Amino acid sequence: MPSIDALADRLSTYLGADQVNLVRRAYFYAEQAHDGQRRRSGEPYVTHPLAVANILADMHMDHQSLMAAMLHDVIEDTGIAKEALCSQFGETVAELVDGVSKLTQMNFETKAEAQAENFQKMAMAMARDIRVILVKLADRLHNMRTLEVLSGEKRRRIAKETLEIYAPIANRLGMHNVRVEFEDLGFKAMYPMRSARIFQAVKRARGNRKEIVQKIEQSLAHCLAVDGIEGDVSGRQKHIYGIYKKMRGKRRAFNEIMDVYAFRIVVDKVDTCYRVLGAVHNLYKPLPGRFKDYIAIPKANGYQSLHTTLFGMHGVPIEIQIRTREMEEMANNGIAAHWLYKSSDDEQPKGTHARARQWVKGVLEMQQRAGNSLEFIESVKIDLFPDEVYVFTPKGRIMELPKGSTAVDFAYAVHTDVGNSCIACRINRRLAPLSEPLQSGSTVEIVSAPGARPNPAWLNFVVTGKARTHIRHALKLQRRSESISLGERLLNKVLNGFDSALERIPAERVQAMLTEYRLEQIEDLLEDIGLGNRMAYVVARRLLATEGEQLPSPEGPLAIRGTEGLVLSYAKCCTPIPGDPIVGHLSAGKGMVVHLENCRNISEIRHNPEKCIQLSWAKDVTGEFNVELRVELEHQRGLIALLASSVNAADGNIEKISMDERDGRISVVQLVVSVHDRVHLARVIKKLRALTGVIRITRMRA
Ligand code: MN
Repeated sequence: MPSIDALADRLSTYLGADQVNLVRRAYFYAEQAHDGQRRRSGEPYVTHPLAVANILADMHMDHQSLMAAMLHDVIEDTGIAKEALCSQFGETVAELVDGVSKLTQMNFETKAEAQAENFQKMAMAMARDIRVILVKLADRLHNMRTLEVLSGEKRRRIAKETLEIYAPIANRLGMHNVRVEFEDLGFKAMYPMRSARIFQAVKRARGNRKEIVQKIEQSLAHCLAVDGIEGDVSGRQKHIYGIYKKMRGKRRAFNEIMDVYAFRIVVDKVDTCYRVLGAVHNLYKPLPGRFKDYIAIPKANGYQSLHTTLFGMHGVPIEIQIRTREMEEMANNGIAAHWLYKSSDDEQPKGTHARARQWVKGVLEMQQRAGNSLEFIESVKIDLFPDEVYVFTPKGRIMELPKGSTAVDFAYAVHTDVGNSCIACRINRRLAPLSEPLQSGSTVEIVSAPGARPNPAWLNFVVTGKARTHIRHALKLQRRSESISLGERLLNKVLNGFDSALERIPAERVQAMLTEYRLEQIEDLLEDIGLGNRMAYVVARRLLATEGEQLPSPEGPLAIRGTEGLVLSYAKCCTPIPGDPIVGHLSAGKGMVVHLENCRNISEIRHNPEKCIQLSWAKDVTGEFNVELRVELEHQRGLIALLASSVNAADGNIEKISMDERDGRISVVQLVVSVHDRVHLARVIKKLRALTGVIRITRMRA
């Protein structure tokens, strides 16, 4: 039975005493937290985290990873909060434990099988620190080793998940040993009969071939010795699941696979690898087309080796791998080897994530030298330092989006209509702002409403081109239809003043005018008017053919409902609200801007019918309008709170507040308050006046 003392002894060979003590502390904390809990096997629960830590100690992982291993089931199984771990063991360890818990909670089984690869990517993307993955792999490895105590169904579920998700992740990280163990244990749990049969057959075959294996080994060793090369020759055994995959995938018979004899030769340096290759090609004839130089062109996960196949005595095929000790270490342990290998000769200990980066960088450089960095970038770098987030639809489909994407990007990725009619979203079943950047692993649900329209403000936060294009397009369509409708009202307004109306103008007159303006249809003309590019007054006079004749100015204002949308806006200089006397200023391309009648900015053009139009507020005008108030009052404690509660008491809303202290006694507060109309504003002002110490209240306007 492994103990914490035994582990501490092993750790002290590569960690400092302080660090070993921290690992001990984490162990005792976990022991207490899991007190009373037992594993299915009957052992105290803490034996599991201890075993996980032991696996990581084999890889020479740092003390924080080992602490996280001790604590990895604490959040999930004992209800202790992440915050508590944070105050006990610091933020890094708490983050690692939290990351492992999140991976544990991810339920792969209910989701579609075809998405296994996306799950791998998602798991990687979720772990901002690569150590999370390594702790999780160690956790899974111990669970796989102790799988036998579980019920059949649960065993199969875990085995399947291991084969589909965790073995490929180990492979991506180049951790061959872990991958092989995952595969053999997973295969055994999923298909116990097939696994046992292959195991027996392999055992039998090995017995039969012992003699010939020894002979080949001797002749290879002799051949190296003759050339004065030092190297270790060993027979290589294929793993059970690998044999099974070959039999099934390549439809080969068991004997065909087993009739190949496999050896590995490990030497000191790269140069020697090629010398060994020459020597063995001299010994036996190489099989054409089977030589592969993975030293010059490494595999995507950094694997390096020379591979060749020879015709041995009596024509038996011999597969040979030739590599250096360093390559051997990398081939077996991948990213984990980087800890093992570098930890001894590193001057100052680097952060572990920095080491992961270093590993990636190293592999990237190898790939670039080999000229196929593309494949590498595809398969490894993106996984470790992802530029994507992976999120679920409510039905469990995985969507891949660029980093920083929001629910709106997600909605447009699902379907343009979903994007256009989206009004709110739930992230992991909770309502969330549409602008919130999505996190990998979240489930996103879009709330849509028929007839809803994209909001121009979305353009400020969407990141995908698709969302941007479709929002712009929808806004353009919306703007056009709103412009047309405003233009029609403006034109009819003027025509009515002349005792006419658009539908009473003869069609040929309208057509002649369109031709003259080079427009295709009447809507184009109305849109132009609505956007302020053409003056309704001028168009009306042309339509009525009263050129030169002086017409009386049309009587009566045009009513504004407040729902005109994108083609009508309220001037920032004077902020009119319903009830105020108003004037519309048509400015080219912008549509109509509503000003107070006595706003100084338009005083010069107010009576020009080609630029300004009389407006009134419709009876049913709705909405919230901002006004700016300036309140002078005696300085007192908590005056902001007093002002806020007065405004609130009158159903007003403070949008913005700022304060200047003029002298020690008087304060001047600028408030932006949203109200429905003048009556509402009067109520707000009355409430404010009732406060003690208020000297003066002024509504600000240009
Ligand atoms: Mn566990």
